[in-house]
Amino acid sequence: MELKEKILELKDIKMQYHTLEQETVAVKNINLDIYNGEFLSIVGPSGCGKSTILSIVSGLIKPSAGEVRLNKKCKNISGTDIGYMLQRDYLFEWRTIEQNVLLGLEIKKILDEESYSYAQELIDKYELGKFRNYYPNQLSGGMRQKVALIRTLAVKPQILLLDEPFSALDFQTRINLSEEVWDIIKGEQKTAILVTHDISEAVTLSDRVVIFSKRPSEIRKILIIDFGDSKIQIKEKRKKEKFNEYFDIIWSELNDERKDKGK
Ligand code: ADP
Ligand code: MG
Repeated sequence: MELKEKILELKDIKMQYHTLEQETVAVKNINLDIYNGEFLSIVGPSGCGKSTILSIVSGLIKPSAGEVRLNKKCKNISGTDIGYMLQRDYLFEWRTIEQNVLLGLEIKKILDEESYSYAQELIDKYELGKFRNYYPNQLSGGMRQKVALIRTLAVKPQILLLDEPFSALDFQTRINLSEEVWDIIKGEQKTAILVTHDISEAVTLSDRVVIFSKRPSEIRKILIIDFGDSKIQIKEKRKKEKFNEYFDIIWSELNDERKDKGK
C-alpha cells in the first residue's frame, strides 16, 4: 500500500520507569511515523517496551521525554481517538453480546440513535447478528475476541491498538481470527498498531514491521512488507516465497539481538 498521510508521529520518545528499587529505561530514541490506513506491527523480545509504546500512544501514560502527535497536532489524545484490543476480551459475562458491544458507547456517554444504529450495523455486517442475545460464555474464545473488536470499533476510533490479541487462542483459531480481524480493520479503513510475539502473524498482517531491540529498547529495523498484490488473502501469503524471506529477516534480527547483547 502507498504510505502517504501521517496520522501519528512519535518523536524522540523515551520512557523511564521509577520504582523504589530501581530506574528502568524501557524505551528510548523512538522516532516513528504511522500512516493513515496502515497496519503496523511491533515485534521484539519480551519486556522490551512494546506495551509501553501502546500505552504512550493511547495517552494512558506520559513519556519521560518526547511527544506524540496525532493528525499533526501535539494534543492530548482522547479516549475516542484510540481503541484498544487486548489479550483478554474483558467482556461482561452478565451482559448479552449486543449489550457488550454497546458498552463502550455507554461508558463514553455517546450512545444515541446514530451510534446505536452504527453498532447494530457492525454486528450484522460482521456476522454477530445471530449471537446478539447470547451471553459471552456461550461463545468460543475467538468469537469473544471478535465481539471485543466490534465493541472497540463502535466508538469509531481513528487508531486501533492491538496488544497480543490472539496469543491466548489455539493455533487454528488464531489464524482464522487474525484473518477476520484484518478484513474488518481494512474494511473499516482503520489504522492499526499490533504488538505480537508471532513473526508469522506480523508478516502476514502488516504493511510494515518494526523490530525493537532488547531493553533499553530502540528501533532496530523497520521492514516494509510487500507481497506485490494488495488483494492477496492472509492464508495465501503463508505459501509465498516472500513470506519465508520476511520471516527469516525478522528471525535473524531478533536472534542477532540476543547474540549482540550477550557479548
Ligand atoms: P513488553 O510489552 O515488550 O513485554 P512492557 O512495555 O510491558 O514490555 O515493559 C517494558 C519494561 O518496563 C519491562 O522491564 C517492565 O518491567 C517495565 N515496566 C513496565 N511497566 C512498568 C511500571 N508501571 N513500573 C515499572 N516498570 C514497568
Ligand atoms: Mg506487553
